[in-house]
Amino acid sequence: MAETAPGLLPAQQAALHAIRTPAEHRPTYPAGFANELRNDAEAALTELVDAARSLDSRGVWISKRDLAGVFGCEARHLADADTPFEWSVPTARGTVLHKAVELSTHRRFEPEDAVDAALERLVADDDSLGSFLARASAGELADLTANCVALLTRFGETFPPMQRAWRPAAEVRARARLCGGAFVLNGKYDLTLGSPAPLGGPDGLQRAGKVIIDLKTGSRTPTDPEDLRFYALVETLSVGVPPLGIGSFYVAEGRIEHEAVTAGVLDSALRRTVDGIGRLISLRTDRREARRVPGPPCRWCPISADCEPGQAWLSDPDD
Ligand code: SF4
Repeated sequence: MAETAPGLLPAQQAALHAIRTPAEHRPTYPAGFANELRNDAEAALTELVDAARSLDSRGVWISKRDLAGVFGCEARHLADADTPFEWSVPTARGTVLHKAVELSTHRRFEPEDAVDAALERLVADDDSLGSFLARASAGELADLTANCVALLTRFGETFPPMQRAWRPAAEVRARARLCGGAFVLNGKYDLTLGSPAPLGGPDGLQRAGKVIIDLKTGSRTPTDPEDLRFYALVETLSVGVPPLGIGSFYVAEGRIEHEAVTAGVLDSALRRTVDGIGRLISLRTDRREARRVPGPPCRWCPISADCEPGQAWLSDPDD
């Protein structure tokens, strides 16, 4: 990424300082690093391959949401999976903002114009969000636009302006197939900046250079750091070079929580992912009863009315 730019607002400067690492301080990895990680992952998952194939011959897909689900309240995770997703102004807000950021990375827009352009593009997409937006009332669209313009304005005041040299990319899909496709680690990064660089030499050294950023339009959740470590794993297994850093950018706070990616971070992401896949498979094959873990998510749980521990927590959340 570029050096510190003059004329930044304090929050922009702080975010830039957090994510910027001079080239000479960026870690390098030998060419075989990602293959070793893949071998470790596949060795740890081997005994789950048959169960995965029995669940879905095309492979079991695993997202950061699945992992957060099985490490939280498993009963809610299963209930969510069985509940058809419905778009609404709050659920559409993040996607519209990401699209507006994506468009703004390639052309200068005023926030209102960027949000209008994002809505136009998303309506044109032949998917569930496109049809929700096409059918939305004037009031819903006005509400969504106002929300997203406010968030994008905030983002513009707190995140450093995009530079072409950073190679910004938004809504980046990434997948890593393991064990011949029995498992597919699936990610969609909100924003990436920078790229790895091949250095060559006898070890085929690669220098890390990419920062993966999750744009958070809501509150912090305990799994935010783990979500991004999962993305670092997916990136390493798919591109072959670990990212330089990962960070959650909380738009309302105008603050980024950044973490440098190291071999230790990837190892811990790998262990958690393998553990989570084992839990997911045992849950989906009905090998055990789902755990119930009451807490703040009970407020939005689709089965809370019939859940005893959930009702107890809801009646006295401070206890
Ligand atoms: S109400 Fe709470 S404890 Fe019960 S299933 Fe939902 S999230 Fe879990």
